[in-house]
Amino acid sequence: MGPTGPSGRFNVGEDCPVFDGLFPFCQASAGGSIGAAVKLNRGDADITVNWAGGLHHAKKGEASGFCYVNDIVLAILELLKFHRRVLYVDIDVHHGDGVEEAFFTTNRVMTCSFHKYGDFFPGTGHITDVGAGEGKHYALNVPLSDGIDDDTFRDLFQCIIKKVMEVYQPDVVVLQCGADSLAGDRLGCFNLSVKGHADCLRYLRSFNIPMMVLGGGGYTIRNVARCWCYETAVAVGVEPDNKLPYNDYYEYFGPDYNLHIQPRSVENLNSTKDLENIKSMILDHLSKIEHVPSTQFHDRPSDPEAPEQEEEDMDKRPPQRSRLWSGGAYESDTEDPDNMKTETNDLSASSVMKDESNDDS
Ligand SMILES: [Zn+2]
Repeated sequence: MGPTGPSGRFNVGEDCPVFDGLFPFCQASAGGSIGAAVKLNRGDADITVNWAGGLHHAKKGEASGFCYVNDIVLAILELLKFHRRVLYVDIDVHHGDGVEEAFFTTNRVMTCSFHKYGDFFPGTGHITDVGAGEGKHYALNVPLSDGIDDDTFRDLFQCIIKKVMEVYQPDVVVLQCGADSLAGDRLGCFNLSVKGHADCLRYLRSFNIPMMVLGGGGYTIRNVARCWCYETAVAVGVEPDNKLPYNDYYEYFGPDYNLHIQPRSVENLNSTKDLENIKSMILDHLSKIEHVPSTQFHDRPSDPEAPEQEEEDMDKRPPQRSRLWSGGAYESDTEDPDNMKTETNDLSASSVMKDESNDDS
């Protein structure tokens, strides 16, 4: 039996609590990604970033894994008005199930998710799930085990993406940069450094295809900030200093006050044999797709008519905007600077917060 009361009525609850400011939060997240798509469609930018987006678990009819509105699906629908083929890549530690589901039966969007698989939320994303109907072989799933490190992840990622680019030739790329795949994440179990994570963005960027970069999960908050700061720099071709400049949140980044993090000394449970098997299975899926599928544009709704607005001065935003981030889930953590949000069904907020062993401080 599902939840009763407003939670059940609106298909939220459990790991998707209702909080004050939920609607404006969804507006900011989804509006940011749709706006990013419009900018790419118009050719106003060759790369757009929305760190408030990337909420890949939300479904058409229900919230899931702290994702209420799937900004990625909405943004890709917007991109499809002007682009024939969209490549969606997901490096969050969790499977990008909501996006895969939305485009499971079309070849106009190829989804490619790298994630932990096996007794892990949301439970989907097996390597044999490859899409259906017209979309068969246009959904790729790369199931991984705990402890994957920079070198093995980079090798696998580049090998698969190189082939994807060759056979699919996307017009635009959407990258979900969930930071819960970093070493020391409170929910994740991978062992990537910020540099290793950012290498995925750097590699995709090297193909010179218009690109949208989105956020996603991430539960050791200071590392999420490090990661998305560095990835913003990579997106614009800047190499920032490892020593963090003094800022209002400086104490969160002790004791080293560095931008980059070190991987943990944990075992990489992805054996060379497993990785070779994954690689050959994915390359086999890709060999089955029609080279550059012919696609037809369908009737589409009219384009948004709102005139281009002037860039917002981020320092002069109205004070009530801060309510977007003042939800209960963020205020519940008083002991640790790493406020967290919950993404799993299995791990309640309290059980996660009790586990300090993953913390890198
Ligand atoms: Zn995640």
